[in-house]
Amino acid sequence: DRRPGRVARVDRGVCTVLCADGPVRASLGPAVLAAAARDLTTLPCAGDWVLLATWPDGPVTVDVVLPRRSALVRRTAGKDASGQVLAANLDAAAVVEPVHPEPDVARIERLLSLAHESGARPLVVLTKVDLAADPAQVARQLAAVAPGVPVLPVSAERGAGLEQLRPFVAPGRTLGLLGPSGAGKSSLVNALAGAVVMPTQAIRRSDGKGRHTTTWRALVPVPGGGAVLDTPGVRAVGLLDGVAGLDRAFADIAELATGCRYADCAHEAEPACAVREALEGGELPVRRWESWRRLQREVAFESRRRETRV
Ligand code: GDP
Ligand code: ZN
Repeated sequence: DRRPGRVARVDRGVCTVLCADGPVRASLGPAVLAAAARDLTTLPCAGDWVLLATWPDGPVTVDVVLPRRSALVRRTAGKDASGQVLAANLDAAAVVEPVHPEPDVARIERLLSLAHESGARPLVVLTKVDLAADPAQVARQLAAVAPGVPVLPVSAERGAGLEQLRPFVAPGRTLGLLGPSGAGKSSLVNALAGAVVMPTQAIRRSDGKGRHTTTWRALVPVPGGGAVLDTPGVRAVGLLDGVAGLDRAFADIAELATGCRYADCAHEAEPACAVREALEGGELPVRRWESWRRLQREVAFESRRRETRV
């Protein structure tokens, strides 16, 4: 007897799975454990579609994790050379960044690379715009670091701008939120769900569990729609796995590079380098160029480290 469901959250190996008749708690079945021993990324995570088995004496286990359409993966620096899936089957992955006190541009660039790499459609959601003097101006500035990606200013507090997010949580669609603690992700989930379903920072502090709840990730159904998935506490370290996401997040630089004389131009001292020309002419900000170089070096370093370990 197997039935389908979707994982809402995972706590120490126990999954809360949303089934047609409500939430069910399930532990990991033998096949899932065997697969995880070889590759940790096969472990069920929030957003996964699974098949549950009910055993004669009562316990329910996750029997099968169905193939993922998209996955946000954190590569771990540990000796297992593996990684952890933060969220599965997202249609859109929103990088959530507060405008106040000041948006962290380098963090947006890094998380956008990860969002691009996940296979979901990337977005930038600027939160707490009620605290900004000129949110439209901030959104315009950030559009330059998110080429081809919508930048949506919102305020959960005021309920402003939320209608721009509704298409991403339409029936059958899942929106993932990716960003630092305190960015306003829980507030956004609550605003989209129309109820307090996630404890916000103020609540987490007052019950003294602030630290522990950072590992919480949960899929929340949106009434009359799809779902929103919070991945709080994603620290912007060690997240990148390859250059594909990076090239897409820095599509402006990739585009410039097509104008270099040499196809393998390193943009160092080569003649007729379109990237250096754009830097010198001021069309490509030095900050953005350095950000791209830093992330590239990081990816190269991580992949070398993994290769030498295997
Ligand atoms: P999370 O850690 O990303 O889930 O962030 P929370 O949703 O817990 O929000 C962090 C803090 O920012 C809380 O104190 C919220 O009340 C506050 N906050 C969230 N959204 C807004 C907003 O739109 N405007 C303002 N002014 N504060 C907000
Ligand atoms: Zn070049």
